[in-house]
Amino acid sequence: MAHILLSISGMNSIRMQKTIKNKIEFSGIGLHTGHEIRVRILPANEDTGIVFLRTDVPSSPIIRATAENVVATSYATTLGRKGLTVSTVEHLLAAFYGLGVDNARVELDGPEVPIMDGSASEFISMIESSGLKDLSAPKKYLVIKEPIRVADRDKFVEIAPSEDDEFTVDYSIDFAHPFITKQSFSGLFSGDVFRDGVGRARTFGFLSDYEMLKKNGLAKGGSLDNAIVIGDNEILNEEGLRYPDEFVRHKVLDLMGDISLLGFTVIGQLKAHRSGHALNFKLVQEILKWPENWVLTEAPSKDEPAEAHCPLVEKMATV
Ligand SMILES: [Zn+2]
Repeated sequence: MAHILLSISGMNSIRMQKTIKNKIEFSGIGLHTGHEIRVRILPANEDTGIVFLRTDVPSSPIIRATAENVVATSYATTLGRKGLTVSTVEHLLAAFYGLGVDNARVELDGPEVPIMDGSASEFISMIESSGLKDLSAPKKYLVIKEPIRVADRDKFVEIAPSEDDEFTVDYSIDFAHPFITKQSFSGLFSGDVFRDGVGRARTFGFLSDYEMLKKNGLAKGGSLDNAIVIGDNEILNEEGLRYPDEFVRHKVLDLMGDISLLGFTVIGQLKAHRSGHALNFKLVQEILKWPENWVLTEAPSKDEPAEAHCPLVEKMATV
């Protein structure tokens, strides 16, 4: 069983909303279509949130990255509005969430965010190169007051109040496969560790599933360049793993992207076992269904640390 803990500071790191400082442009292959997709990320005003726009479709609606626009959660998280969709948004959303980008406009000329190397690594580098800019409204925090849990057989994801006003993630996976059951990791994270330790973890799949996806016309862009592929007795990627417990770190990355669909930075203790996009999204829906279990707070701007750019904290420890 692998195990990971991630903590972000909550009320101590009081901040204004942020957007990116400079335009970001890149292109890459879509995992499911196999087509090259061009992306432009532009700064956006306070309270815009993260929004997507399809430039390949005339008069595309703005698709905001919030729970009510989630249209599918199998294999990837897909957003949609008025019949138009954008798929595989979770790694980009995780990068925004992890680096504290509250507002951005993402324009793309195809139906999915490029898979890049299967992690958030390149998104993180590009956002950091762009830099962040403060906006004139305070950031909003969703503070959990009563626990909320969703489960599917032995899989679950739950969130409970945090006494220390922190956001912590405690994630475990336990696959019936020698490469995954044997790994074990736990730690309490800093912003640097998010960037270097979670952001670089790649998506993974089993060779048998991959062959099945290809047969069904999915994962056309899938290759060893953008996923860890696990055979019966080996990792097929020649370069091996980036971390011995890369799998669970990637699951944390996915969870960050999914939880960002709440639209607010969460303060609470998040705990998950073998969860995936579908169950993560169920938790988001459940949280939104129970507003008496949380409060929204705004942080006063006078306490804003001058150079704070990443909400993920501060200390790292082995647990
Ligand atoms: Zn993923």
